[in-house]
Amino acid sequence: MNVLLVHAHEEPKSFNGAMRDVAVRTLTEEGHTIEVSDLYAMNFNPVGGRHDFTSLADPDFFKYGVEQAKAAEAKTFAPDVASEQEKLFRADFLIFQFPLWWFGLPAILKGWVDRVFAAGLTYGGGRWYSNGVFRGKRAMLSLTTGGPPSIYSPRGLNGDLNTILFPINHGMLYFVGFDVLPPFVAYAPARVAPEQRDSYLRNTRSGCDLGR
Ligand code: FAD
Repeated sequence: MNVLLVHAHEEPKSFNGAMRDVAVRTLTEEGHTIEVSDLYAMNFNPVGGRHDFTSLADPDFFKYGVEQAKAAEAKTFAPDVASEQEKLFRADFLIFQFPLWWFGLPAILKGWVDRVFAAGLTYGGGRWYSNGVFRGKRAMLSLTTGGPPSIYSPRGLNGDLNTILFPINHGMLYFVGFDVLPPFVAYAPARVAPEQRDSYLRNTRSGCDLGR
């Protein structure tokens, strides 16, 4: 199976970095092909704009979604976007590895979605949700939080984590057709005991059983 892991943490020695390393090692041992887009290491530009395209359909009035759809037809995405799209289309399984920031994706990963999940290419013309471009493929979030599980329960201070993740799981991944697996969450790795961190990494390892 081809796996694409999109990694969004600014520090390689972070707990997110450790989770990524365990996933890469385990999936490789299991015989999968894994590609990693390490967005900070790549200095990925998360801001969508005119630079996403090698030419514009309408240089006088720039409309991002329209230009994406034209670029999907004409194959005029800029090289940094096109190479991520190629990785995305190669993947049978997509993983986002990230720390929860402001109840959502870090901007660098949100911008990856803005630019790579382009209109006309990954959705449009009735191709979405169960009829989406990536139907039959799977996706999963693997994330860390600052807060403990108790504040992410349905009656907790921050509210239900699944509700918080709905815009990503439903509005991004399922929107383009992926079957979305339950998220893997390492709660508050900076605040728990070392044994709990070890347990998170063991669970990351056992969660990598994707089948072949
Ligand atoms: P780190 O701090 O890198 O790691 C934690 C611990 O793990 C460290 O002690 C490290 O030494 C140790 N470690 C590293 N590698 C290993 C290893 N191999 N084995 C064992 N231990 C290891 N939190 C929320 O809950 N909700 C929010 O909305 C939210 N918004 C945020 C917004 C911003 C802009 C920022 C900066 C933070 C926000 N946070 C929020 C907190 C953030 O989610 C956490 O700080 C983050 O998830 C912690 O993960 P980390 O990888 O950065 O942990």
